[in-house]
Amino acid sequence: MRSFVLCLWCSVCFLGCADGVFHGPNAVAEAKSPQADQSAVQKSRAKESKVTNNMQPKYNKLTEFEKYVLLKKGTERPFVGKYTDTDDAGTYICRRCNAPLYRSDHKFHSNCGWPAFDDELPGSVTRLPDADGFRTEIVCSNCGGHLGHVFLGERLTAKNTRHCVNSVSMQFIPRGDPLPPTITKNSKSNDSDRRRANDKK
Ligand SMILES: [Zn+2]
Repeated sequence: MRSFVLCLWCSVCFLGCADGVFHGPNAVAEAKSPQADQSAVQKSRAKESKVTNNMQPKYNKLTEFEKYVLLKKGTERPFVGKYTDTDDAGTYICRRCNAPLYRSDHKFHSNCGWPAFDDELPGSVTRLPDADGFRTEIVCSNCGGHLGHVFLGERLTAKNTRHCVNSVSMQFIPRGDPLPPTITKNSKSNDSDRRRANDKK
C-alpha cells in the first residue's frame, strides 16, 4: 500500500510542469515555443489590422495632387483652380467623400484667386486652428479632408465671411443633377437631404 501511494505521488510530480502549474496529461501538447507565441501575436495583429481597414470608408480615389491638398493640407496655385470664377447654379461637394459643402448662392467673387463662399451648408464644414498659429483651417466635417481657410471681418459680403477653398477639394454638381451618395463611416447616405440641397440655387 505504501509503495502504491509513493508511485501515485511521483506520477503527480512528474506531470506537474516547471512553473508549478499542473497542466494534466496534455501538458506537452499544450506547451508552446516562443516562436509559436510570436506567430500567434502576428496573426492576431494582422487580423486586427484587417478589421480596422474594413472599417475605413472607401472614399473616392484621388489623384496625387488631390491627395496633396485634401490629405496633406496643400494649396493649389491662385487663379488656376477649376471653380475660381464659376457662377453656375448647383452644389459644391467634397471631392473625397461627396458631402455637400456649399451652394452656388454662397459663392462670390473675392478676386483672391480661389473660389470664395460666405456661408456653408449647415454642419458641413469644421473650423480648426491652423498650424501656422493665426489662420483658421476649414475641413470637410464628414471626412476631415482639407478645404482651405476661412477669414472673417474683411467686409466683402454682408456675412463678412470668406471661405477660401481649393477647387481641387471640391466637385461641382449642376442644379438638377443627382448628388452622389455621401461616403460615411457607416456607408449610409441621406438622399432626401442631398436632393433638397441641390434643388436650391
Ligand atoms: Zn469630405
